[in-house]
Amino acid sequence: MASTLEIAIFPCLSDNYGLLIHDKESGETAAIDTPEVSAIEAECGRRGWTLTQIWNTHHHWDHVGGNLELKEAHGLSITGPHQEDRIPGLDRGVAGGDYFNFGAHEVRVIFTPGHTRDHIIYYVPAAEAAFVGDTLFVIGCGRLFEGSAEDMFGSMAAIADLPDETKLYCAHEYTLSNAKFALTIEPENEALVAYVERAKVLRAQGLPTVPTTVEMEKRINPFMRAASAERLGQIRQAKDSF
Ligand code: ZN
Ligand code: FE
Repeated sequence: MASTLEIAIFPCLSDNYGLLIHDKESGETAAIDTPEVSAIEAECGRRGWTLTQIWNTHHHWDHVGGNLELKEAHGLSITGPHQEDRIPGLDRGVAGGDYFNFGAHEVRVIFTPGHTRDHIIYYVPAAEAAFVGDTLFVIGCGRLFEGSAEDMFGSMAAIADLPDETKLYCAHEYTLSNAKFALTIEPENEALVAYVERAKVLRAQGLPTVPTTVEMEKRINPFMRAASAERLGQIRQAKDSF
């Protein structure tokens, strides 16, 4: 990671993660989604960071709930999906393929529909990191609320296309429950079995399993490993009633 960028992850609500990215050089700090104002403010305070931006991935309440309160408190700028009228306080609408600057660093917007019709993720090459919202979870993917299996299949492929070492910051800690399901799909997958043991240790210590990496998800995530949209749809349906 470039020395001027730092990422903070901290628990919010019951199973969300709060995420901040800070650029020492410019002093900019972005919150990726706003699950819980008090937890976000506390983390900023602890680190001496001042919030200047919000980057929203999608409109669900556990991702935009703190937008207006934080905007009012800090006069910050809110970036989110351009076609979305459900993002409170949206200042800058962006679409897949767009780039914007964060200090001297480039942020790439990738369109990842499936969980919602307009979900986007934020890739920061200089940090070798992507903020994937509710599109991908460790060993899992988001529920298909507004999109199709084809949409999510394309979104998984877009994430798999990022460099292997890219760290993926998911918005929820669902790893152990995803693991139980994934082991029913690929019981013989040694990388999966070994990973699950490590994840259990992390969780027993109260530590996050996030971030994961593109390389790891290619080896253990049944949704990313699905050979077709049809197969992804089957697995997703099975998971919904698991
Ligand atoms: Zn969501
Ligand atoms: Fe969520």
